[in-house]
Amino acid sequence: MKKKLYLSLGLLLIILLYAGSFVFSYSRILKSSDPLLITDVARLVPLKVHRVDTLDNVEDLKKVLVEAREKKLKVSISGSKHSQGGHTYYQDAIVLDMSSFNKILDLDIENKIIRVQSGAKWKDVQKYINPYKLAVKVMQSSYVFTIGGTLSANAHGRDLDRSSVVETVRSFRLLNANGEILNVSRTENPELFKLVIGGYGLFGVILDVDIELTDNEIYEQKSVVMDYKDLPEYFQKNIKGNPEEEMMLVRPSITTDTFLRELVVATWNKTDKTKEGIYDLTEEENVMRDKFIFGLSRKYTWAKNWRWDLQKKIETGVGEARIMSRTNAMRPPLAPLELLDYYSSGDTDILQEYFIPVKNFVPFMDEFRDILLKDKVNTISFTIRYVKANNETYMAYAPTEDAFAIIYMSNVALSKKAQEKIEQTTQKIVDTAINNSGTYYLTYQLYPTKEQMRKAYLNTDVFFAKKLQYDPSEMFVNKFYEKYAK
Ligand SMILES: Cc1cc2nc3c(=O)[nH]c(=O)nc-3n(C[C@H](O)[C@H](O)[C@H](O)COP(=O)(O)OP(=O)(O)OC[C@H]3O[C@@H](n4cnc5c(N)ncnc54)[C@H](O)[C@@H]3O)c2cc1C
Repeated sequence: MKKKLYLSLGLLLIILLYAGSFVFSYSRILKSSDPLLITDVARLVPLKVHRVDTLDNVEDLKKVLVEAREKKLKVSISGSKHSQGGHTYYQDAIVLDMSSFNKILDLDIENKIIRVQSGAKWKDVQKYINPYKLAVKVMQSSYVFTIGGTLSANAHGRDLDRSSVVETVRSFRLLNANGEILNVSRTENPELFKLVIGGYGLFGVILDVDIELTDNEIYEQKSVVMDYKDLPEYFQKNIKGNPEEEMMLVRPSITTDTFLRELVVATWNKTDKTKEGIYDLTEEENVMRDKFIFGLSRKYTWAKNWRWDLQKKIETGVGEARIMSRTNAMRPPLAPLELLDYYSSGDTDILQEYFIPVKNFVPFMDEFRDILLKDKVNTISFTIRYVKANNETYMAYAPTEDAFAIIYMSNVALSKKAQEKIEQTTQKIVDTAINNSGTYYLTYQLYPTKEQMRKAYLNTDVFFAKKLQYDPSEMFVNKFYEKYAK
């Protein structure tokens, strides 16, 4: 009798531990705690740095640069480390961790401009401006990114009118390799404006930034399901062609039956409706539940199908109309991140992103789908957004044509063999993007070749030549620079 009870309890414990493995990362407990072994969220290229300095004032930042010059040390800069290709560190370098350099310096309510230090996160900005009924114009899909990291990638969001962050930056101050502080704007040091935004920390430390804000309007969120072939026309007629539509997010299916064919298109349009507490800031909800379902979908095809059904109903609310403030439309639970927090010693989740002119969307998706299926990539999430053509920066990802930003997340093993395989797959997708007049996002892994980078980004050589002109001793470096500069 006792034996049976112990057996049942043992079995129950095993089931609970197994179920728990989809929510908790057990291997996190055993991971190395060497503070100098640095990596980013993708954990693909960890390496030892000289030291990490977390500083909260300009004088200390300047002192580090003096020391680096004297001792010929390299310097890398990190925000919230969500880039995925070693953009925030370098072997034996001093890493400037900007997370404590995070004060809000000024808010000009009348002109809707905020001055904020570069280590602040969008979360901090949203909290500060919410009582004034102001909202951010452009930020990423989540509020955890720093302002410095956002500018350095020239990140984009869901807004249909202003899609990349450069469109909202008035000016910033830059601490350069000589220890000088420069004012940078479209009229003062204009070349640096075009190099530093989208420049991945290679020209100096962004200190504080003047960013344009907008009104915290009320939106209605609606979603429709459609075939991917209908998206370009639907987008031009009903979304871009409708001045009431403010934001868009598209989720393609990751299920076996409708893989990258069925789409849910969510839009947010202005409304006069309101409800009590509409301006209260929302936070991430049901993290454990969502982590569990997401974790299962990393492993099982049936769970991917189940998650897709739930996403349509719960996340995008197909068939419902939901009202919310602009700020909340850009925050969790609509823009979650905690649920994606994942640590395993054997594998990792990586993001990749392609910018494809709207007119080439369908042929690109057909080839993209074929590559992912043929190479058996474990795709766990997909989204599509819109970015307006903008060539203000040297490393513009959609310099001449309006594009769809196609973002996919996959789970890949960390083994050498698996990494080589995903590198080859990525290079095929990058070729497909280039053949469709598109580009890829430089903020993720270093899988694309140097030649591919130069084909996708025609200014690459000029960009790196300018880097040497502004920073001849190559003080500011990172793994991205090491791979692609020469
Ligand atoms: C889950 C997830 C979702 C994402 N969603 C989006 C999205 O919706 N839209 C989008 O466009 N991108 C998205 N990204 C990419 C993200 O915007 C970029 O990787 C961004 O750079 C991350 O900001 P960070 O604060 O983590 O910067 P980090 O990764 O810490 O740094 C990125 C670069 O900025 C430089 N840098 C940081 N601070 C400074 C500073 N003060 N001065 C000079 N250089 C600095 C670093 O040296 C580095 O080169 C996403 C990434 C992840 C992992």
